[in-house]
Amino acid sequence: MDALFTRLPMAHLEIKQLTKRYGNFVALDHIDLAVEEGEFVVLLGPSGCGKTTLLRAIAGLELQDSGQIVHAGRDISRLSPARRDYGIVFQSYALFPNLNVGANVAYGLNSQKGDRRAARQGITQRVQEMLELVGLPGTESKFPAQLSGGQQQRVALARALATSPDLLLLDEPLSALDAIERVRLRSEIRGLQTRLGVTTIMVTHDQEEALAMADRIVVMKNGQVQQVGQPQEIYRSPGNDFVADFIGRGNLIEATPAGAQHIRAGDLLLRCCIEIDQNRKHRFYVRPEDIRLHNILDDCENSFTAQVLKYEFLGPYSLVTLDAKTGQSRPLVAQFSSNYLDGRPIHPGSILRIGIPAEHLRPMPAAA
Ligand code: ATP
Repeated sequence: MDALFTRLPMAHLEIKQLTKRYGNFVALDHIDLAVEEGEFVVLLGPSGCGKTTLLRAIAGLELQDSGQIVHAGRDISRLSPARRDYGIVFQSYALFPNLNVGANVAYGLNSQKGDRRAARQGITQRVQEMLELVGLPGTESKFPAQLSGGQQQRVALARALATSPDLLLLDEPLSALDAIERVRLRSEIRGLQTRLGVTTIMVTHDQEEALAMADRIVVMKNGQVQQVGQPQEIYRSPGNDFVADFIGRGNLIEATPAGAQHIRAGDLLLRCCIEIDQNRKHRFYVRPEDIRLHNILDDCENSFTAQVLKYEFLGPYSLVTLDAKTGQSRPLVAQFSSNYLDGRPIHPGSILRIGIPAEHLRPMPAAA
């Protein structure tokens, strides 16, 4: 069949060429994104990259200048928020302080038309059900001020889900919480989302949160999408220098060809797993945890000696900054498990033998 006439299946939520300007400033620059039904997609990027603007445009709280948003086959680009089918949770809980928990959760249900399933079941029962779902049964009569931040955010989640929306939008829902509560609630949210199967889009600037929760991560910068991929893909094969730097730590190694599968970086001759084009320079990326620590006399492939410049003990692991004569402007940073280092005295000036396994030299595209 002629490819032109083949109908491609449409994603559950399609964002096409979405652009939003504030005066001369371009907050969203021709964003394309397709989200599948039931997917948990995280918009990740530094402050000001446009992730909240994108979420708010999906919610109809911000109107784009051009582009289209199609949800479940319906063009919602110009619909008011009330006519779109989503629940939303904000960073600041946004509960009504004068209403008790039950009334907060029931808020969206009260304004629903009589034929909605939730309305038929009875609002009281639905509120009860939702509070059980978020782990706060029996708290209907409490007021927001009597709850912790994490509990308030659970109530906000119950309220957002009470109307059985087709789409759940989460705008930095964890960033106002302390570290322990953040980790606890993030796994509860992900568990709940998986159980309900509700298509979810969450904004965060926290890489670990994104890696832990997402089916797919959308990395943004300056109103543009830099890379879309599964957490492992984004972490293991960053598409450009920005993504590599933004997600975790890493070492960029610029090298010249030195044989069919070998490169030279400073004093080092390293084997890699790709065929090397002999006519250009190459760039590789090495994650600190992929660097191996060998016994000093163990002269195995891709191993070399390096001098410790800095040693940082960070609990479960340690970061070791090394002068490894790689010919780069930045020293090499390696991460070793603290258990593994136990009994090996490492301090500035120590000489170590380290190695970069060939499979962990990950090719990077040429710099933009
Ligand atoms: P943060 O995590 O800091 O909220 P973000 O990636 O969510 O960052 P947005 O809130 O989407 O960023 O903002 C993107 C850019 O658009 C920012 O530079 C912001 O200053 C600008 N911006 C957002 N809203 C407005 C507005 N109403 N008027 C003018 N500029 C705005």
